[in-house]
This record gives sequence, structure tokens and C-alpha cells, in this order.
Amino acid sequence: MGKVAREVVEKAGINVDELVKKLVRAAGAEFTTYYYYTILRANAIGFDGEGIKEIIEDMRIEDRNHFEALVPRIYELGGELHRDIKDFCKDAACPDAYLPSNPRDVKALLQVLIEAERCAIRVYADICALTAGKDPRTYELSAAIMNEEIEHEAWCSEFLGEGPSGHFRRGAPGESPYVSRFLVVPKPGV
Ligand code: ZN
Ligand code: FE
Repeated sequence: MGKVAREVVEKAGINVDELVKKLVRAAGAEFTTYYYYTILRANAIGFDGEGIKEIIEDMRIEDRNHFEALVPRIYELGGELHRDIKDFCKDAACPDAYLPSNPRDVKALLQVLIEAERCAIRVYADICALTAGKDPRTYELSAAIMNEEIEHEAWCSEFLGEGPSGHFRRGAPGESPYVSRFLVVPKPGV
């Protein structure tokens, strides 16, 4: 780990162990969401389902990108991922995004998606509040992720008929317009 990288965050007055715990739980939420969205995307079929399939894919790959972007920061700060993936999933910051009991109910499916996105926004708002003015690297990263989670919520919200979001066009699925600069590996499709 970067000794000084952690030290400066401590000196700025942040409880680094607490911050690392939050980052690991956020990474767990991204990882499990990526998994569950795979199932949700597979079930987005038929006249209604096809309309949201690409949006689910976009959110799915961007959430995977969020996991990828969080991991180096966790280790830099002296943290680590759980040794056992089962513990990692149990520790996730957001509830499991289960396939609705009636998978053909696209509204119920959208409800699962939007709840997951709303949970994610709250997770990063919390990390941003904790790190603002103290830990610029974690702050910038979580703010970038939050920008994308807000977009995700907006896409679902419009589909649910909750009103206009003001957002116009999505990029290619998984583009991660805000987080891609934190990714070490080239983004998918590039
Ligand atoms: Zn995410
Ligand atoms: Fe998301």
C-alpha cells in the first residue's frame, strides 16, 4: 500500500478504516449488481422487455466499471477485498437486485433496477460527504461514480413514467463517461 497515500488521508481527519469499510461495501454492491443485472437483462424480452434491454446492459457494464475503479483505491488505503466471495456479497452496501417473481412484469423489473440505483446514489453521496475537502482522490472517484448512478436512475425513472429527467442520449453501453478515466484497463469496446 502507499504509506503516505494513507497517511495524508488520516492527517486530514478521516477515519481511514471506516472509509475503507465503506469502499469495500460499495464495491460489493457494484459486484453483486453486475451479477443480478445479468439475470435481469437476460429476462428483458418481449415487446416491453426489449425496450429496456440495452439500458440494463449499459448500467450492468458501468457498475462493473465502478467495481474495477474502486478496487485500487481500497488497496492504496491499506484495505483489501474479503478473502471469501460469500462474505463479500453479504457485506454489500445495497440489497440483492433479485429477479421479480413474475419476470415478464417489466414494471416490477424496472422497480428492482431503480431501487438498486437509488441505493447506489446514497452510498456515494455518503462517501463524498465523508471525503470532501479531505481526500481528493476518493472524493473525485466517488463523485464520478455518483454521476453515473444518477444517470442510471434517470433512465429508469423516465421509463417508469415518473416524469422527464432532462437527460438526452446515452453513449454506447458501458462507456462510463465519468469513471473511464479511473480505469486502468481500456474500457470495453475500445
Ligand atoms: Zn454503480
Ligand atoms: Fe448503477
